[in-house]
Amino acid sequence: MPEYFSVEAVVLQSRPLGEADNLLTLYTREAGRFNAAARGVRKPRSHLVSLAQPFVHARLYLFRGRTLPGLAQGEVLQAFRGLRGDPALWAAANVVADVCQALTLSQEPNVSLFQLLLWVLQVLEATAPGFRQLRPSPAPEGAPGPPRQALVAQVQALSVFVLAALRILGFGPHCQDCVECHRPVTGEGAFGPAAGGLLGPECAGRDPSAIRLNAAAVRLLQTEDRAAAQLAQRSQSEGGLPEECGLQWPDPQSGVSATGGCWPEGAAVAQALCRFVEQQAERPLRSWSVWEQIALA
Ligand SMILES: [Zn+2]
Repeated sequence: MPEYFSVEAVVLQSRPLGEADNLLTLYTREAGRFNAAARGVRKPRSHLVSLAQPFVHARLYLFRGRTLPGLAQGEVLQAFRGLRGDPALWAAANVVADVCQALTLSQEPNVSLFQLLLWVLQVLEATAPGFRQLRPSPAPEGAPGPPRQALVAQVQALSVFVLAALRILGFGPHCQDCVECHRPVTGEGAFGPAAGGLLGPECAGRDPSAIRLNAAAVRLLQTEDRAAAQLAQRSQSEGGLPEECGLQWPDPQSGVSATGGCWPEGAAVAQALCRFVEQQAERPLRSWSVWEQIALA
């Protein structure tokens, strides 16, 4: 008799396994990250298809298999279909999944991280074309159009997610003043993945991998870090995170958010944070290169 168990999960990845199966990488509320098999999911009329899609949030029922747990059935809680809305958004969601895999060990539950993961998927989905927010509105001449506003919001959500995840896991970078000399950084600076955070101009040379940031990017990093601190703290309480927690949507007229989100600085900060994750995980984030190819094209 197989032994069944149930988890609340987000599917981080779903890839072919053998003839007709898929290997799912799940992040679950109860047991953290683990792999499971969706047997026969690529056969016509499989009842598991809707559960084996990337980013689906579901209550899953699994049975303990000889090598891997197998998916028996489940109930979709949030399909996050809006994430399929455009290639840049899909790529951003894949960065989230990649960061989540890179920073976590197998079968180490972390309810805060699980809640943060649901939060970022909801925020990203809200930027989907024609979705709830960021609806195209008549913009003055010269203002960034809706696609750019969505990108500003998406990189902002990515950066805040990465910063909050790092805080929750206990290795958040130092962002409010210089990580080396602790002097305030008011103008331009750099982000040192090896140094562990923000560097003032006088210390930037100490980390050869440091990424230069202009003054607007430094301010943005600091604002996003404060938003992430708020999120990381609230993620400890049960009941989920409100979508608006910590950040605000870009103004449809100017494309600039009240949190200071801007372009191309937002992308520069997100890139610096992905380099930091790579340093921690000791592996490249391939998903970030894909995002750059699509969003910066
Ligand atoms: Zn310094």
